[in-house]
Amino acid sequence: TPSAVMVATAVGASRHGILFKGGAEALQAAAGLGVVLFGKTGTLTEGKPRVTGAVRLDGVAADGARGPADVAVSDATWSALAAAEAVSEHPLARALVAHVREGVGVAADGVGIVDSEAAPGRGIVATLTDGRVVAVGSGPWMADSSPTWAPPPATAADLTAWAARGATVVLVSIDGTPTAAAVAIEDTLRPDASAVVAHLTRSGMAVWMVTGDAAATAAAVADRVGIPPAPVVAGALPWAKTDAVAAARDALPPASRYRRVAFVGDGINDALALAAADVGVAMGAGSAAAAESAGVVLVRSALADVAVAADLAAVASQQQQ
Ligand code: ADP
Ligand code: MG
Repeated sequence: TPSAVMVATAVGASRHGILFKGGAEALQAAAGLGVVLFGKTGTLTEGKPRVTGAVRLDGVAADGARGPADVAVSDATWSALAAAEAVSEHPLARALVAHVREGVGVAADGVGIVDSEAAPGRGIVATLTDGRVVAVGSGPWMADSSPTWAPPPATAADLTAWAARGATVVLVSIDGTPTAAAVAIEDTLRPDASAVVAHLTRSGMAVWMVTGDAAATAAAVADRVGIPPAPVVAGALPWAKTDAVAAARDALPPASRYRRVAFVGDGINDALALAAADVGVAMGAGSAAAAESAGVVLVRSALADVAVAADLAAVASQQQQ
């Protein structure tokens, strides 16, 4: 009966803060899910990244031997990095700026920017008042502009180890190649992430992950929450996240009743994919653009509510038949 659906939407809203924006229709769409796609940063993780390591990428002997002076990032690099990231609203930028101020203790006040440009899903580049051009962003993005550059072997091992433990690795270039610094930034997994993945899997859904972060970092996080490696999509620029939604749809058996795809995300970078999915689910504490594009908003930002929403939808649709 239609009332089963109305009861379920009301229970979702009042008990859990699950807002089915499209009302009964949004709930009914959630009953036919075959795949649930999760964003990584701010969705499976808490979205409170912090800096956990930093090395400079030059000044290392060819044999890999190095001392503390070889690996310490210079104050000039830290202040340039903070100046560039001060204008960015990306969670990584906030973590970097806080680290320079509080962790390193370098004041960036003396350095301003003349101009800056964000590259969504990649990083940011800024021209400083002292003339330096600073870029901060992902390894693949740096590789685009410096294709022949590679970190010295000892440092490359650091970067590999960081990614293997799930850290995001960000490189810093000043006036050219990314030799100024590599920084590890880590975000805590949400405590209920593994349980939600297990619950959805047990309920018969395939669980995928899509992220703009690098493949090694993505694989480490997916492994920890129990998402199988095959459908993990890494290095996805914001518009490519919608391709992942389409790929998930294509992967479902055409005859199945469960042919719908949900996307769970939090960021402005997830807005397109949230709109493209049959069921877009936004974390309430995420960006306004994400909540606007989504059909379902988790007001408490509790990841467990993804499982609750799927269960409510399934129960309501069973009672309707
Ligand atoms: P996600 O899909 O995990 O939310 P994004 O699409 O926001 O990630 O970003 C992808 C990658 O681009 C980040 O892992 C980082 O390497 C790089 N990046 C994006 N914006 C910035 C920034 N402001 N500063 C440094 N790195 C950035
Ligand atoms: Mg995100």
